[in-house]
Amino acid sequence: MSNQVRCHCQSCAIRSLTGPAVLITVGVLFLLHQLHGGYFDFGNTWPLILVVIGLLHLGSAFAPRDGHVEAQASTAMPGVPPSPPAGVPPPVSPSERQ
Ligand SMILES: [Zn+2]
Repeated sequence: MSNQVRCHCQSCAIRSLTGPAVLITVGVLFLLHQLHGGYFDFGNTWPLILVVIGLLHLGSAFAPRDGHVEAQASTAMPGVPPSPPAGVPPPVSPSERQ
């Protein structure tokens, strides 16, 4: 289970379709290869995969990014400060000193 915050802006939504779109394209191209062969041989049609990936990235680049959330590099929860390192005593305020 991932703790990462998923962005739901239109740009990221379009980009997240890349994987499924590539799988569907590969499936359709293999189906055409099996049913028709000849010109629809996978050796001739595979560049369509690159076209699909390029179109989705182009759509993602031009889509609005309103409400976009950057991916967090660390696993810390957003808004929670990191805990102090172990072995360091807590700071003493001047009123507590003698
Ligand atoms: Zn986003």
